[in-house]
Amino acid sequence: MIPLREAQQHVLGKVPSLPGRTLDVAAAVGAVLSEPVRSAVAVPPFDNTAVDGFAVRAVDVASVPARLLIAGTIAAGDEPTLAVAPGEAVRIMTGAALPAGADAVVMVEVTTVDGDTVEVAEPVQPGANIRSAGDDIRAGDLVFDAGTRLGPGHVGVLASIGCPTVVAVPPLRVGVLSTGDELVSPGRPLRPGQIYESNRPTLLGLVRQAGHVPVDLGVAPDEEPAIEAAFRRGAAECDAVLSSGGVSMGDFDYVKTVLDRIGDMRWMQIAIRPAKPFAFGLVDGVPVFGLPGNPVSSMVSFELLAKPALRHMQGDPDPLPREVPAVADVALGRQPDGKVHFARVAATMGDDGRYHVRLSGGQGSHMLWAMARADALAVLPDGPGVESGGTVGVLLLPPAVP
Ligand code: AMP
Ligand code: MG
Repeated sequence: MIPLREAQQHVLGKVPSLPGRTLDVAAAVGAVLSEPVRSAVAVPPFDNTAVDGFAVRAVDVASVPARLLIAGTIAAGDEPTLAVAPGEAVRIMTGAALPAGADAVVMVEVTTVDGDTVEVAEPVQPGANIRSAGDDIRAGDLVFDAGTRLGPGHVGVLASIGCPTVVAVPPLRVGVLSTGDELVSPGRPLRPGQIYESNRPTLLGLVRQAGHVPVDLGVAPDEEPAIEAAFRRGAAECDAVLSSGGVSMGDFDYVKTVLDRIGDMRWMQIAIRPAKPFAFGLVDGVPVFGLPGNPVSSMVSFELLAKPALRHMQGDPDPLPREVPAVADVALGRQPDGKVHFARVAATMGDDGRYHVRLSGGQGSHMLWAMARADALAVLPDGPGVESGGTVGVLLLPPAVP
């Protein structure tokens, strides 16, 4: 058996880095920047008002009530040609450029208009209600570094600095293949010895949840030609392929035979539970992740090994999941066996500001129900486990429903 970290480093070291492409900013959510982005402009680009009201000289409203002459109106988008002279105010709308001479804006709520004058009921400090040019981003600022995964807020910032396109690696096309003669698709009757196939919908969902594009490669029976055809199709159409099943020590694990023939594979026994068997390699230059067949194992293997590798292929320099400390509200017992255990736990945030965890159900690697209800995997190093009230590291799982 090898330590998990060794398996992870092996995979991260072998996956290819995909080249960046020029993407429209609006279509770049989920992409990872290949190059740093600097802003050529300041945001906001000019001093403007944060409220609807009147642009004034603060000194003119130092003693209230103050009556000022309305010199004009500036709406958002107007070119600021007006100026505020002593004793004057300019009516101004949120986002409009501040007129020359003004150093504050009084909110419309504290004013009363009477003909061409306005009475101001409260004084304001110089600078009040003004958004200064560049107070969010200054011209020349490094906005996002290479390796940044773009979310909705990021693409908004890129748009706000006037960037129409970015060079980034888009979400990957990831093929998902199930293998096994015992597998039947839901909707069909089960014969004795058969089970319903659940890994494919799960893994397709995990791929989507990780921000990539799932490609369904179907279910291959335990026959070499069908398995080979599915892997070849995946390598031709996808950036990476996930298979589940056939990587353990069984006699009918044709996945192993096929991948050893058509790929450059490393077969691993990782010192973890669940998800001990794992294979990784390249088929026609495309990374193939041989995940274990047991449903919980395939999900854990995806989280620990495949997902970080997919992120790394996009250019994320630091893709491994991070442990956060939590309190075990119940004992998380285990037997020493040379492996790190990943217990499926429900997590809640306590009044003490710490995560509190308890088992989310049965812990067998076939017991998918508890995995579906888990918020996190509790990391139990080899040994007797963690006592009730003890501290345990957890890997938070992404929210089941975003
Ligand atoms: P294997 O690694 O192929 O020996 O599979 C290990 C266990 O996982 C067996 O109990 C299989 O029946 C089960 N299994 C494999 N693939 C799937 C799948 N796609 N859906 C549900 N269970 C599966
Ligand atoms: Mg099998």
